[in-house]
Amino acid sequence: MSTMGDGTRAVRAGLPEPQQYEPTLPGPVFAAHYHLSGEPTGPYTYGRDANPTWDRLERAIGELEAPGEDVETTVFASGMAAISAVLLSQARTGDIVVLPDDGYQALPLVRAQLEEYGVEVRTAPTGGDGQLAVLEGARLLWIETPSNPGLDVCDVRRLVEAAHAGGTLVAVDNTLATVLGQRPLELGADFSVASDTKGLTGHGDLLLGHVTCRDAGLAASVRRWRKVVGAIPGPMEAWLAHRSLATLELRIDRQCANALALAEALSAHPAVSGLRYPGLPTDPSHAVASRQMRRFGSVVSFVLADRETAERFLLALRLVEDATSFGGVRSTAERRARWGGDAVPEGFIRFSVGAENIADLVADVERALSEAVTGR
Ligand SMILES: *Cc1c(COP(=O)(O)O)cnc(C)c1O
Repeated sequence: MSTMGDGTRAVRAGLPEPQQYEPTLPGPVFAAHYHLSGEPTGPYTYGRDANPTWDRLERAIGELEAPGEDVETTVFASGMAAISAVLLSQARTGDIVVLPDDGYQALPLVRAQLEEYGVEVRTAPTGGDGQLAVLEGARLLWIETPSNPGLDVCDVRRLVEAAHAGGTLVAVDNTLATVLGQRPLELGADFSVASDTKGLTGHGDLLLGHVTCRDAGLAASVRRWRKVVGAIPGPMEAWLAHRSLATLELRIDRQCANALALAEALSAHPAVSGLRYPGLPTDPSHAVASRQMRRFGSVVSFVLADRETAERFLLALRLVEDATSFGGVRSTAERRARWGGDAVPEGFIRFSVGAENIADLVADVERALSEAVTGR
């Protein structure tokens, strides 16, 4: 299987051997505890420790993260649970951790928590491999590429090489690219981490996260952390996620093609500035992205004149919902500055491109832009 195409592997990922009269993907197992007599050993004892529905999903994600390799995946209740599991299980008082200064908007909360525990946190920009300059003596480097929402890209192999030379572990938040867009472990990272709330599951109806490691010791520390804090996914969410993986390649390919086409249409538009999409040949990130990404993702960002123009644009859209999050089959967009926290202009739009027909989407966006600009 490992040499086959992404679509073939996605539809079969994590499936058990066929069993007479059993479904292809067994349904979710709802259990707080399992029948257990005698010594408390074996795979399934208590529901916080293990669940067959998680096991199948973890195997599936692992097969996509590192085809043909022996890796270990741990699923979590959300992307933040997965992120915190890596950072808080690895960093000790007195350690140094390097974060991006343009990463996911909840990272500053994690930073504050780490600092309360006596961890020194340094930050630097994703673009231009800015984190290289602050690596000295660090225990862990946290990379987010492409960064969210700015869509800057850093050279993962280059950062990993420098980090490992100094004994620094590397984690990559791969949420935006998904496993089909980028393989952090292949690029040398120790932890591949993602919010599967986004493109991996793609329907905007559940929260989930995961961490995949090649090293068994690191994987065990992450898994232990899940048990300690109890940040476990519900069996229904895990099953829905596994079901969604079957269409992963279809969704991601369509959404990436749509994102490129939308970016091309926007690049010619007089009302749009600061357009970013790593798949666009003219994008500052394109050269590095082409070397390490297998698909460029479904998020496009750009800037409109001001807050009012951006708000009129969002209101005028008919096929695109004003909502946060990204990676879903239905296009969404938002004025990112409404949250505060990200260093973006008032008119900055983060646009998550869905699986609609591209002609309809471009027409809707162009009509909404002209209404926003003319005020009609
Ligand atoms: C959404 C997101 C997260 C957090 O994931 P949740 O599932 O919402 O907890 C982390 N990193 C990135 C890049 C994200 O976009």
